Amino acid sequence: PMSHSGRVQNPRICVCVRKRPLSKKERGRKEVDVVTIPGNGTLLFHEPKQKVDLTKYLENQVFHFDHSFDEEVTNETVYRYTAKPLVHSIFEGGMATCFAYGQTGSGKTHTMGGDFSGKNQNSSKGIYALAAQDVFSLLRQYPDIDPFVSFFEIYNGKVFDLLNKKAQLRVLEDEWQQVQVVGLQEMSVTCVGDVIKMIERGSACRTSGQTFANANSSRSHAVLQIILRRNLQLHGKFSLVDLAGNERGMDVRSNDRQTLAETAEINRSLLALKECIRSLGHNSDHIPFRMSKLTQVLRDSFIGENSRTCMIAMISPGMGSCDYTLNTLRYANRVK
Ligand code: ADP
Ligand code: MG
Repeated sequence: PMSHSGRVQNPRICVCVRKRPLSKKERGRKEVDVVTIPGNGTLLFHEPKQKVDLTKYLENQVFHFDHSFDEEVTNETVYRYTAKPLVHSIFEGGMATCFAYGQTGSGKTHTMGGDFSGKNQNSSKGIYALAAQDVFSLLRQYPDIDPFVSFFEIYNGKVFDLLNKKAQLRVLEDEWQQVQVVGLQEMSVTCVGDVIKMIERGSACRTSGQTFANANSSRSHAVLQIILRRNLQLHGKFSLVDLAGNERGMDVRSNDRQTLAETAEINRSLLALKECIRSLGHNSDHIPFRMSKLTQVLRDSFIGENSRTCMIAMISPGMGSCDYTLNTLRYANRVK
């Protein structure tokens, strides 16, 4: 059900792919599954030659990732191989970041565990809650460290506080290039339950109470941060990022100005993200974090000895998502 690659790689970056099951709707449409995960971190993308001839496959494309998770793998297992290994690093003063990337409907929010919008009663525990659990169990060994949570959304280059009624926040950079989101709520948390409450509150805020036209979670990046402070000084930070749907970046046919602006911004931020993670991987001095608001706000994630990143690229396995899936696989392949 899952596969690992034996490649020796930069240990600071982990890139994985997760395939979700075909949905009821897709099965109803008799969608064909075009993704197979045979083992060794390998993922096979097989493109049907023609939509009408489903038995003939033109060409198999092979991709290799640190881990490839198929439709039977649970959130717990995905967590264990992606975000979990990063948790201890924030106690050592590190910056850890985990990104959920992929087209809308591919499972980003399901994986992160941010589907507490009131609609989804049986949402399973995701990476948010699993990471919070591990943070709190490690905290017992560090009585002088205090945990906080912030949760915000970046839409069209603007930052909105999900724990404070979507208040719009300014981002400032000082002369030492320190980036600050001014006025961002940082809630003190004392147990996992407190974190879950914040996730519920922020997730509900994300999907409701629209402060801008056509607000839609697929067009914004959501950033949940678990912040550790020692004597009120920043010690370590874990950023968990549910990215905007990457199909937005591919859709350039719209005539609508608003949509075009959103599209351009999403394109810019996902491109910037790729460049920043690559710079981290190559220990480069030049990190183009100013390319987008997303990377500017996450600047700390891309610098320093103690920064570690994992990206989970989600894919919808159906033939109808072919183009987007290939786009996602190519992006994930280029990140490292
Ligand atoms: P995204 O956030 O990328 O737009 P969602 O997380 O909302 O996508 O997932 C779309 C739908 O697919 C949801 O109904 C979700 O519960 C379901 N889903 C996603 N991933 C899985 C999975 N691995 N197993 C079962 N259902 C999944
Ligand atoms: Mg989502």
